[in-house]
Amino acid sequence: MTTMAEQDARTAEAIAGALNVLTGRKLAILTGAGISTDSGIPDYRGKGAPVRTPMTVDQFVADEAARRRYWVGSHLGWRAFAAAEPNPGHLALATLEARGVASGVITQNVDGLHVRAGSRRVVELHGTMRRVFCTHCGQVFDRRDLAVRVETDNPWIQVPENVPLGPDGDVLPESTTDFRVPACTVCGGMLKPDVVFFGEFIPAEKFRDAEQLVRGADALVIAGSSLVVNSGIRLLERARRRRLPIVIVNRGATRADSRATVKVDAGTSDVLRALAETLPDVA
Ligand SMILES: [Zn+2]
Repeated sequence: MTTMAEQDARTAEAIAGALNVLTGRKLAILTGAGISTDSGIPDYRGKGAPVRTPMTVDQFVADEAARRRYWVGSHLGWRAFAAAEPNPGHLALATLEARGVASGVITQNVDGLHVRAGSRRVVELHGTMRRVFCTHCGQVFDRRDLAVRVETDNPWIQVPENVPLGPDGDVLPESTTDFRVPACTVCGGMLKPDVVFFGEFIPAEKFRDAEQLVRGADALVIAGSSLVVNSGIRLLERARRRRLPIVIVNRGATRADSRATVKVDAGTSDVLRALAETLPDVA
């Protein structure tokens, strides 16, 4: 058993170690769901989270009932994202970039909170919920406008209690039979949120942007990701090959703890704020 005081001392020591290896360096940052939990967005890969079977893009394209189910869940999820606010972790990263310490943020999140916190160079590896596009003609729609359309066509959805959820938070099929799926207003084609679905690949040019960000940095900070997703590991390996210091900030174990120069086992808000308050500007 470790006491709270011992735990605090260990965290303080790890933060000091992180500051030591990061001082004077230009940082590339990679973030995952753990950075947004303090904004009230659950981390489905975190400890104790229920096992989910996300919809594949093939199911989405082929099955109209699946598409209805997807859109109901996606709409409610987006409303939750829109109501969330960036937390001190997001704000600390925006500050570090404005001061020239961080070159930008690569994120696995689709919640858009880095952009809203003021980060300017943001590579959204898995896309963003803020945009929806037509799979036929390519027309892009702002999610806010689309949400208004969804709620006009399906007024009952504005009261989320009307939508029964399964034990793992997913929308149950019986609640979606009446749902009117939004179509492209230009050509009537199938719309799809601008996010990478389960079973889809990250677009090559997006991964190249992320690689470039790591290439332009002297250190890599990974915050709030357990590195279950392979793209994260690939970026970490790019940094390792160049012998850059790697700092991992995450509550709980990650797939790459043994490959980190420093691991800080703590919440991202406090640790990133400490980095933003202490790291000097980089010329
Ligand atoms: Zn279209």
